[in-house]
Order: sequence, then structure tokens, then C-alpha cells
Amino acid sequence: MTRLLGLLVLLTGLFCVPLAGAQDLVTSRAVLEDPDGAMSIDSVLGREFTVVSAIPSRGYSDAVRWIRLEVARPDKGSEVVLRIEPPYLDDVRLFERDETVPSGWKIRATGDLYPYGDRDVVSVTLGFVVKVSQPVSTYYLRVRTTSSSRLYVEALESHDAQRKDFRSLFLDALYIVTMLLVLVWATQHNLAERQPVLGWFCLYQAVYVAYALALSGYLALIIPFGQARWADSATSVLVCAVAFAFLLFSRALFRLYSPPKLLMRGLDLLLLAFPLQMLAMVAGHARLALQANAVTIAVSLIYFFIVSLTLRQEQVPRRRIVQAVYLAVALVGLLLQLSNIGLLTTAASTPTFAFPLYAHGLIVSVLFVLLLRSRLRILQEQARQAALDLAMTQRTLEIEHGLKEQAEVLARTDYLTGLFNRRHFVELAERELDRAERYQRPLAMLMIDIDHFKSVNDTRGHAIGDLVLQEVARLIRAAVRAVDIVGRMGGEEFAAVLVEMDGESAREVAERVRCMVEEASIRVPEGVPVSVTISIGITHLCGRNADLDTLLNEADAAMYSAKESGRNRVVL
Ligand code: GH3
Ligand code: MG
Ligand code: MG
Repeated sequence: MTRLLGLLVLLTGLFCVPLAGAQDLVTSRAVLEDPDGAMSIDSVLGREFTVVSAIPSRGYSDAVRWIRLEVARPDKGSEVVLRIEPPYLDDVRLFERDETVPSGWKIRATGDLYPYGDRDVVSVTLGFVVKVSQPVSTYYLRVRTTSSSRLYVEALESHDAQRKDFRSLFLDALYIVTMLLVLVWATQHNLAERQPVLGWFCLYQAVYVAYALALSGYLALIIPFGQARWADSATSVLVCAVAFAFLLFSRALFRLYSPPKLLMRGLDLLLLAFPLQMLAMVAGHARLALQANAVTIAVSLIYFFIVSLTLRQEQVPRRRIVQAVYLAVALVGLLLQLSNIGLLTTAASTPTFAFPLYAHGLIVSVLFVLLLRSRLRILQEQARQAALDLAMTQRTLEIEHGLKEQAEVLARTDYLTGLFNRRHFVELAERELDRAERYQRPLAMLMIDIDHFKSVNDTRGHAIGDLVLQEVARLIRAAVRAVDIVGRMGGEEFAAVLVEMDGESAREVAERVRCMVEEASIRVPEGVPVSVTISIGITHLCGRNADLDTLLNEADAAMYSAKESGRNRVVL
């Protein structure tokens, strides 16, 4: 962007630098209107020409104008270049006294209706090379064009003409590079952001570059020889297309600010102008199409400014900025249009024809780049913020999810031993019992109680009692299979559901658990390790139907009978 601005400053500077020493050898200009284009050179000679300081513009008139030029002989040599702008004039003929031809007039022609290769001067600018043999020679130009006939003619020594050509070539290149940089910038962002308004800006920018190239005469270079008319037609199409592209872009931009619907309908109506103009062109009414286009542009520019005043929704960039930009665009555009249709005669005397064209393109594209850039920056900031928020929300959700899961685990787990608590044990045991009864599968229930646990608490303390509870729970859990359900029923009482297991197998498992507990010496932080024993009562389904309470009671009873018969044993 800094490079772009640097280029722009350079470009503006170059525009302002006067071409040192390039002296215009035209000593007098005079104009004669020929509305029907019916006059011949001989009839023109008898008429009164109007002497002018600058040739006034005529907007899309299609009329013929005769221009009489008095050209002074240069100090050295006699070769002079008549340089004629703009390059989109259709047909320019030079009449020069020559006694060697029967009519007494040597006639040469140029213009964008003529192939580029046939032209007299090697530049995209129109012109003729003449030999000025008298101190002052008189030349007549017959000019006809359907376009806006701004007209500038100067007579330069060849080296001055060359320098001027080189300068405009250089400026054209700089201008095109600048505009293309803007286009590349917008395209890159459009690819990254997918903003409709950026997409339309890219289109507008591309069309404007093509339009500027066409108006500066470059189409003549690339249109095939012999098809010179195409350059003329393509230029006319682009003149209309640029207004259309700008309308499309403005619509997309305004839409962001939701202006009144009725005014947007007005914009839609303006869209119709382009296809109508194209129809007119195809039907051979190019001049009519161009006139209509000039009117459309003038109307559009004023209308855009009005719409910008009615933008309702506050947006990025702010409404005020959009309004200011559209006011500027309307003023610059109207000046350009007025000079095109000849209402601003001063423009016709601008030595550099491309100046208003380029200035308009640059001002508009720079204004919109600034506008879109601030919009993009805010959008990128918003996107960054949104991504951040999303990440935060996700993180919060994850934490909440984790907490919920944790809470659920806590709700079904005994805090001390990590086994299922009584409530969850009952839930799971009922499910297994149902399944076993439905499929007539074996199932065993163990009730386990630590022997004389009270005395452990009393002699070693409650904390060590807790450690013993944890260790016994771990041993029980380790002794059974993963599918079995083990819960703490309260205090120092545990229960286990052994699925798919009959009484005898359950007794083996219970015996194993009992041995493991008996043999374990439970290490404690202080003092000698603790050893405890357990009593286990067993019951099993053995083909009958019984509810959970019954099983629990039976196991409990078996456990008590184990206690009664001496503890540290298994009773089935
Ligand atoms: P028995 O052989 O007849 O089962 O004798 P016991 O002492 O084990 O029986 P009792 O039911 O009289 O005592 C159980 C003791 O378990 C009473 C209580 O202090 C203790 N107890 C219950 N829950 C906890 C606990 O979470 N931690 C600790 N340290 N002790 C507990
Ligand atoms: Mg006990
Ligand atoms: Mg007990």
C-alpha cells in the first residue's frame, strides 16, 4: 500500500511537470462547423473561420468540424509533427497545399477507424508529419467523431513530439501499473474474504483499466489490422460498461447500509441503461448509445450521492465517510462528463488529454481502496475476535462438560473407596438381575463385612480405619472380574454382584477374596501394618426369580451366620 501511495505521488508529480522546451508551433487556430459534413475543402475555403485560443468541445455530435492551423517553421529543419488528441477521434483528415496533385490538395487520413499500421506517427496519439517550408504554412483538418469530440492539436518539432510521446507512454504505464496494483489488492482480498462488495470493486477496477487503455488509444494496437472499426466499437462498449460496473459496485456497497428499498429500486432501473445502450449500439446507433450513457452517468452520480445520504444502518466504514466519498466521486465525475460534452471548454485546451481521465480513475480507486481497506480491517478484527470468542466458548463448554461428567461420577461413586455407592450399586444390580432372570442365567450376590472393624478404629484411629477400608475395597475389586459389580453399602460393608456365576463358583471367588484380605498386611504411615479379616455371605439365583431386596437379605443373613460361626469365613 505504501508503494502504491508512493507511485501515486510520483504520478501526480509527473503530471504537474511542464514539458520543458516543447514549443507549440501553431500560431493560430480557427474553427468552422459543418453540421451535415457536406462541405468540401474548396467550399470551406470561402467560409469565415472563427479564430479560437482552444478548440471548443462538442459532445457526441457526429458533426464535422474544420480546423484551420497556421504553423510556424521551426528554427532548424522543416519537419513538424501535428499531434492530435484524443486518440479515439474517428476520422481526421489533413488537407495540405500540393501543386503536384491535380486537385491541388494532398489529403491524408487518420483516426481510430483507420488501421494503426497506416498511421503517420509512431505513437498511440493521432497525428501527421508535415514539412513546413514557408515561414508560416496553413493546414486544414477535417474532424469527425461520434464520441465526445474534445480536441487538442499542437505542432511540435519531431524531437519534442518524441519526448512528449515518451512521457505519455511512461505516464500511461505508471497509471496502468497503479490501477492494476489496486486491482490485485482487491482481488487478493476478495479471494481471502469473499465479500460481494469487493468482488464488484474488482470488476469495476478491471473495466476501468480497460476503458482507460481504450480511450488512450491502446486498443488500436491490439485489434487486428483491417479491423480498425472494432477498436472504435470496443471503446464505445467500454465507455458504457465502466458506468455499469460502477453502478453494480455501488449497489453492493449501499446494500450494506440498508437504504430505503424504493431508492434501491431506482438503482435497479439504472441497471437497465447498459443493455439498452448495447442494443442501440448493435442496431448501429453508437452515437445515441454514447449520448444516453453520458446522461446515465450524470444521473447516476447525482443519484448515488442522494442514496448515500439516505443510508440508514450504521456500518463500517461509517456512513459519513461513504457520503463524503460519493460526493467527491460525483463532483469529479460530473466535471469529467461536462468536459466531455463540451460544457466545460477549458478541458478542451488541456494539453494532456489523459489527465482528467487518469485523475478520475485514480481518485475514485484510491477513495474506494481507503473505504474498503478500513472495512476489511474492521472485518478482519471482528473475525479474529469471533475466532477468539469461539475458542473461549469451546473451552468453557469443555470445562462445563468435564465438570458435569465429574459430578456424575461423584454422584455414583463412594468418595472414600472409589467403589459404586449404594444407590448406583442397586441400580446396576437390578439391571443385571433382570437380565439374568430373563435369560435364565446364573448370578451370585456377595455381602462382605470387615470383622471387628470398630476395634481398628478404636485402637489405631479413624484415619487408619479409612485406609483399611480403601485397601479392602481395592482387594475386593481386584479379586473379581471387570463385569462384576462392587459397591460400598455403608460403613465397613461391601456387596458384589457376580454375573454368570453359580453358588459354587461364587464360593471360590469369595474364598479368594477372604484369603487375599487375610494375608494382606495393610501399610499405614505410622506404626505397624494393620491386618483384618472379612466375613462373606453368599446367595445366588439358581433358576428361581427373586427381587434384589430378597437377594440382599439372604446374603446379609449368610454373612451374619458367618459372623456367628466365628468370622473370617464364607457362608453360602
Ligand atoms: P463385626 O465383626 O461384628 O462386624 O464388628 P464391627 O466392629 O466391624 O461392627 P460394627 O458394625 O459394630 O462397627 C462398624 C464400625 O465401622 C462402626 C464405625 O465406627 C465404623 N465405620 C463406619 N464407617 C466408617 C468409615 O467411613 N471410616 C471409618 N474409619 N470407620 C467407619
Ligand atoms: Mg464389621
Ligand atoms: Mg458392620
